[in-house]
Amino acid sequence: MIRKIDVAIANLKAKRQADQVNLKTRLEQVLGHSDKLYVDKGEYDEEHESHLRNELVIWANYAESGPTFDPDGKYLCESCDMRKGTDQCMRVHGPISFSDGGCRIYVYGKEAENEADMPTKLTQLEATYSERPKEKAFGCKNCEYSAEAKKPDSAGRPSWCKFWGIHIIPTACCFRNDSEDDTGPKEW
Ligand code: SF4
Ligand code: SF4
Repeated sequence: MIRKIDVAIANLKAKRQADQVNLKTRLEQVLGHSDKLYVDKGEYDEEHESHLRNELVIWANYAESGPTFDPDGKYLCESCDMRKGTDQCMRVHGPISFSDGGCRIYVYGKEAENEADMPTKLTQLEATYSERPKEKAFGCKNCEYSAEAKKPDSAGRPSWCKFWGIHIIPTACCFRNDSEDDTGPKEW
């Protein structure tokens, strides 16, 4: 006779296997992206780039000017106006690292806002919080997807982002910033 506990264990094992398959598939999808990038051919469609760049400001947190632009091109918590104390953030669950960390809702501010914490903060995963312990900087010039463009665009942007397929400036940044020392969130 099959006991209920055996059925429950069998179901749990099946679910765990399914989860592992889903995770593997997802990881292959994500990791596979790095093989499929926009090659800089030296021939550009600036109208398309401009259209995409304006959209990236909205949904990829691309910054090359305005309140989310860091003139130093590092985009670290230490220059974000939402940092608090020595290792906390008013909107993202801590502790965070001021010297190594950053996230996609970064706002430049030499002076911290020092406003009350959000009642429910974003998780580090939700905010795409991550750390760069070796480089201690994000920004396009510290991202594996950037390189000097074969030709600058008509506005003088000297670099090419092979992830999005647009000209960029070295001190810009977006949420997809990545490199070997990128740790990802410390908690999910
Ligand atoms: S975790 Fe994000 S919002 Fe908080 S201080 Fe760092 S960059 Fe700013
Ligand atoms: S080079 Fe990196 S950080 Fe800059 S726009 Fe491209 S993906 Fe984003």
